Amino acid sequence: MALTGLEIFKLLPKTNCKKCGMPTCLAFAMALAQKRAKLDDCPDVSEEAKEKLAAAAAPPMRKVVFGTGDNEVQVGQETVVFRHEEKFYDPTVLAVTVSDKLTGQDLKKRIEAVNSLQFERVGTKIGVRAVAVINDSGSADSFAQACKAVKDESPLALIAVTESPDAMAAAAKQIKDGVPLLAGAKADTAEAMAKIAKENGCPLAACAESIDAVADLSEKIKAEGVEDIVLCLEGSNLQEKLYNLSRMRVLSLKKVFRPLGYPTISFVLEGDASQQVAAATSLICKYSSIVVVETVEPHAILPMLTLVSNIFTDPQKPVQVEPKVYPIGEPDENSPMMFTTNFSLTYYTVESDVEASRVPSYILVVDTEGTSVLTAYSGDKLNEKTVANAMTKHNAEGLVKHRKLIIPGYVAVMSGKLEEATNWEIMVGPRECSMLPKYLKEVWK
Ligand code: SF4
Repeated sequence: MALTGLEIFKLLPKTNCKKCGMPTCLAFAMALAQKRAKLDDCPDVSEEAKEKLAAAAAPPMRKVVFGTGDNEVQVGQETVVFRHEEKFYDPTVLAVTVSDKLTGQDLKKRIEAVNSLQFERVGTKIGVRAVAVINDSGSADSFAQACKAVKDESPLALIAVTESPDAMAAAAKQIKDGVPLLAGAKADTAEAMAKIAKENGCPLAACAESIDAVADLSEKIKAEGVEDIVLCLEGSNLQEKLYNLSRMRVLSLKKVFRPLGYPTISFVLEGDASQQVAAATSLICKYSSIVVVETVEPHAILPMLTLVSNIFTDPQKPVQVEPKVYPIGEPDENSPMMFTTNFSLTYYTVESDVEASRVPSYILVVDTEGTSVLTAYSGDKLNEKTVANAMTKHNAEGLVKHRKLIIPGYVAVMSGKLEEATNWEIMVGPRECSMLPKYLKEVWK
């Protein structure tokens, strides 16, 4: 059981030295009990106390990692039920199935179709991150072969899905160096599946129909020596599943009930593409860490991925683009150079207007911590020094031979100081970037 704030307090040095950033040891104890602080933040806590506090300091939801290298994914380690309380950490992993009934070219084509489900959205790459091989054939050999083919031909993480310990053992032998997620163990196979997971160093999904059963199963698997567990609530009633997933989230995060303190996986394998989108989006919202779908239709996958990236955006951190110089069209040394800020919405609005002008140009993106031009200027994140530094850092001088910089009309007031700081001629652009095409064609020379 988790320790209360007062129980934690009794184990702290009680010197109120403030090295942890808190005004008192009691405040630190309360923060630790609520998972708002890390034990490491107190440098003076004794080794003996550390051991006793380990349970209280452990994250309420365990981080589970599968896949390797570039295709490694991690799920879990969430700390809040609602995003506005802080933020969500590990975006839901969207996985797509490959049936082990497929062979030869059909199998190859299906793997290629899953691999191709990658997109770009406001400068960020989003896509399917795992392949779930399903043991539809019932054959251990077919399952092992299909898993091996996916491992060899897909850059994505792998989830091996079978109820048969024999099939799982055969597949795990072939793919263990890719650290797949094994899904999964049931009450009657828990021991055998845990043995396979342990021997091959893989995380294991615990599958049962009720919260109580899934909690019992996770404890059983843990007792067998498997620490990395993913919970799977079975049953096809979506309403019930959403209700139970929400209860599990509250029990794990608010009550710190350890048997439920793991990420979750849900399967959406029935219905057409639209029905799968409807069910999967609900499960992404509440609160599946991994959602496995059957469809490979890009028009069905994209809205799910878009939802994931929206939900998992830090609400306190605006979406940003990388600060650097972006060439629009094929600019040369005579092309215009202008700047804007790294707030995504601002950048992409400017970019699309510059593209519309058909005047090849450079856009220098200044790091203003994701704020728009006026907000950055009024918060002193956009001034002559930040612009001059960005010009130096991103080699604006090396890209053009003229020394003219177009600045947003809203910050015309910067012109004088910016001219002094850069020795460039400052040209005040339009206040609204929708006027940039006209400006670039008629005013820029
Ligand atoms: Fe107390 Fe440790 Fe914080 Fe100092 S650093 S105030 S001893 S909890």
